Amino acid sequence: MPGQLSRAGTAPLAVPVGDGVYLIDTLYARPGLAASHLVVDAGRAAFVDTGAAPAAPRLLSALDELGISRDQVDYVFLTHVHLDHAGGAGQLIEALPNAMAVLHPRGAPHLVDPTKLIAGSIAVYGEATYRKLYGEILPIPAERVIVTEDRQRIRLGGRTFEFIDAPGHARHHHCPIDLDYRAVFAGDNFGICYRELDTESGPFMLPTTTPVHFDPDALHSTIRRMMSYGPKTIYQTHFGPVTQLERLERDLHDNLDGLVHIARQHSAAADRGARISADMYAYFDARLDAHGCRLSAEQRHLLIDDDVRLNTAGLEVWLDRS
Ligand SMILES: [Zn+2]
Repeated sequence: MPGQLSRAGTAPLAVPVGDGVYLIDTLYARPGLAASHLVVDAGRAAFVDTGAAPAAPRLLSALDELGISRDQVDYVFLTHVHLDHAGGAGQLIEALPNAMAVLHPRGAPHLVDPTKLIAGSIAVYGEATYRKLYGEILPIPAERVIVTEDRQRIRLGGRTFEFIDAPGHARHHHCPIDLDYRAVFAGDNFGICYRELDTESGPFMLPTTTPVHFDPDALHSTIRRMMSYGPKTIYQTHFGPVTQLERLERDLHDNLDGLVHIARQHSAAADRGARISADMYAYFDARLDAHGCRLSAEQRHLLIDDDVRLNTAGLEVWLDRS
């Protein structure tokens, strides 16, 4: 394995997680926050999500490390076009001669011409943070894009993926489902499971209600539809494979209802955002205690404050719309 020599003594970039799937930390914002998955089957490969643009060289090095040549990569599956998932797609498509970007029909135009996507992300994150996190977004040539229909199937090596339209987090979200290994690549539709919050009870479910398309009814339906395939594994962009899926699904539906309830309670308050954030943090804090989490208040804030802030922003956009 050529790459093993060049990186001797260092941790591998691509961590095997079973069933021909490798997890690569894109180091977006901090370690353990945003993953890319690489699926390898019968000598062919596909990335599922890419992290932000600064991660692209890391993903290419991971291929080198595994001895997979660039022309063996057939696809870059993008669950949706938020930049922590798809920001590096342009760089990868440029570097991978045979790879096609596979996108939801509502997402594809935004990577072929990323102007609006960049402006929208600056609106959410602010200019300074945006530049630091996202680097340069390269457009993808239209002829390198496959746009999926609901239930479209795509073969990779010996396995078949079925793509489902998956609204709720974003209207440009689809999910590849690996029919042979019973796995769902959920993007942002199955909440977030930071591994730092794992306890002997398993992963901790942190729901996402982020801007600007959050739609609780659609998200509940999408979660049920993903689970209707009877998956044994869900691969989370945030962060990695999870099992215990029935328990996590229950927690996710409960948590989404809990957050929507908090938002509705404060919908008329002048300091609506501050109240929603405070209640949301307290809600997660209590659930972390019940989950057996032993992290300090300081550690918890470091891990979840950004999500509380973005979740609050998404709930406020939803309140204004509904
Ligand atoms: Zn997203």
